[in-house]
Order: sequence, then structure tokens, then C-alpha cells
Amino acid sequence: MRILVTGAAGFIGSHLVDRLMSEGHYVIAMDNLITGKYDNLEPHRSETRFEFIHHNVSNYIHVPGHLDWVVHLASPASPVDYLELPIQTLKVNSLGTHNTLGLAANKGAKYLLASTSEVYGDPEVHPQPETYWGNVNPIGPRGVYDESKRFAEALTTAYNHMHKLDTRIIRIFNCYGPRLRLNDGRVVSNFIYQALKGEALTVYGDGSQTRSFQYVADLVDGIVRTMGCDHHLPINLGNPQEKTVLEIAKLIKELTRSRSEIVFKPLPIDDPRRRLPDITKARELLGWEPKTQLVDGLKETIAWFEAQFPKAAAR
Ligand code: UDP
Repeated sequence: MRILVTGAAGFIGSHLVDRLMSEGHYVIAMDNLITGKYDNLEPHRSETRFEFIHHNVSNYIHVPGHLDWVVHLASPASPVDYLELPIQTLKVNSLGTHNTLGLAANKGAKYLLASTSEVYGDPEVHPQPETYWGNVNPIGPRGVYDESKRFAEALTTAYNHMHKLDTRIIRIFNCYGPRLRLNDGRVVSNFIYQALKGEALTVYGDGSQTRSFQYVADLVDGIVRTMGCDHHLPINLGNPQEKTVLEIAKLIKELTRSRSEIVFKPLPIDDPRRRLPDITKARELLGWEPKTQLVDGLKETIAWFEAQFPKAAAR
């Protein structure tokens, strides 16, 4: 198939490109490289089934030739990034979603939207099933991401109804793995980076807030399975194993054999207290659930960070 992946140079995008290339597809990778890195796509550079287009999908998109799929992953995704890039975040998830949907409709392609567990905001229901409408502060600092992803889901659903576009929506919960940017600002990358550098691990709040972490290879498998499943309503992709942030800090300290201390910093505004996916739907429709144990995934991630570290330390 001929597949356009937006946000292809990002953390999840580049892993998805690896998988699609390994399955023999033709991949058009699009990214404006504001949070993605071209290096992530380097292995495919000389392949004939691969093209890279440097483009911001918030502007009109032109792709020559036919397309079988448009997979829309482009968006800043770390709270630190979308706080620094609030307007770009709003635009890519609204205008960018509109442009990519229009492109898919024009090409007769199928469409997958990467949405997020952030549509549930600071949830009041645990675990979160897809039927939960969420608890989002529209004007808080995270609103730029949460609300624009909610809009993107609404727009994708409208294209499905009005234009009979064959759409999928996935809600991605916290994900980690190799190629997280060292300075991405998210918890796993921060803690590994700090532990390897011998700096204090910065736990925000008292560390009792929870997240559920899935390894990127598991998520990519869930994305590919969703593409193969004829279901238009949102599907949660996440790990139903809940951990506190303090537990994550201690585990990363142990796995890196770091002597760094753990320090406590103020909790960011609107930081969700708990996040835990109900993945019944993914299990039933896709036969999917995360396979990688947290310790194993973290070891892989730490090894990757260690390999990057000489470069990072030299900067
Ligand atoms: N967090 C932390 N220290 C850090 C970075 C993040 O304690 O250096 C916390 C953050 O406050 C949140 C959790 O870890 O409660 C996950 O944060 P992340 O930015 O990875 O993603 P989120 O799930 O909030 O979108």
C-alpha cells in the first residue's frame, strides 16, 4: 500500500514507519521537524519505497499520486512541547486534521487519527473506557492539546458520517521507548536522562499520581491492527498496569544503578491525578494487549539513551 504518515519523524511516527517499511509498503513520511528529528528516519533514506516531505500539515497538503492510507500522527505530544507551542498544537490538530482528512477524501484513502488519553483530561472514572466523555479544562495550559484532539475526533467522525470516509480513531496512553527525545520533558525520558547524568530525579508533586506506560513496539502493533479492523469509533491503546510516578522514579534509579537522589518539585497545573485505560475494546476487536513488561521496555530504553549519551554530554 501507499501510505502517508504525518509526524513521521517523531517518536511514535518513526517506529510506525519502520514497521510499515518492513511489511513492504510504500511510505511517504511528512514532518515539519519542530519536535521530530530527521535522524529517526535515516535508515530508510536510500530506500526506493520511501519519500520524505518536509511540510507543516497545518498548511494545504499536496501529495502526488494515489494513497491507500493517511495516518495522522503529527502534533507536539509532550506537555512541555505543547506548552511552548500552544498555537501550533491547536493548529495541527484542527487545521492539520482538516487538511489530512480532505486529502484522504480526495484520494479515496482510509484515514487513521492518533488521538490521546488526554481527551479524558483529569478523569473522574477509573479505568477510562472509550464511552467516558472526560473532564477537561478548556482554558488550562493543557487545554490546547486536549481540546484540539477532541475537536480532531469530532471532525474525523463528521467526515466519516458526511463523506463516508473510512476512518479510525485511536486514543494513545503514555508511551515510552527508544527515540524519545532526551529533552522531551516527559517523565520516562526525564528520569532516565537525569539518572544517567547523575542529576536529581525531579518528581512533580508527591509522586502519588499514576500513569500506565506502554512500550512503543506494542503501540505500533496496536496501530497496525487498528488499520486492519473495520471500526470507526475510538479505541484505547494503552497498558492497563498502573504505576505511581514515584514508583517509576525508583524503578529507573534501580535499573540505571544511579546514585541520583529523588527531589520533589511543584505539580504542574491540571496534571491528571490518575490515568488508566480500559482496553476491553482493543482486546475484543483487535486481539491486542501490551506484551512488553515495564522492566524489559525500560531496559531497552535505557540502553538507547546510554548510546546517545556521549553525544548528549558533549553538547
Ligand atoms: N513528571 C514528573 N517529573 C518529570 C516529568 C513528569 O514527576 O520530570 C510527572 C508529571 O507531573 C505527570 C507524570 O509524570 O504526573 C507524567 O508526565 P508526562 O509529562 O510524561 O506526561 P502526561 O501523562 O502528564 O501527559
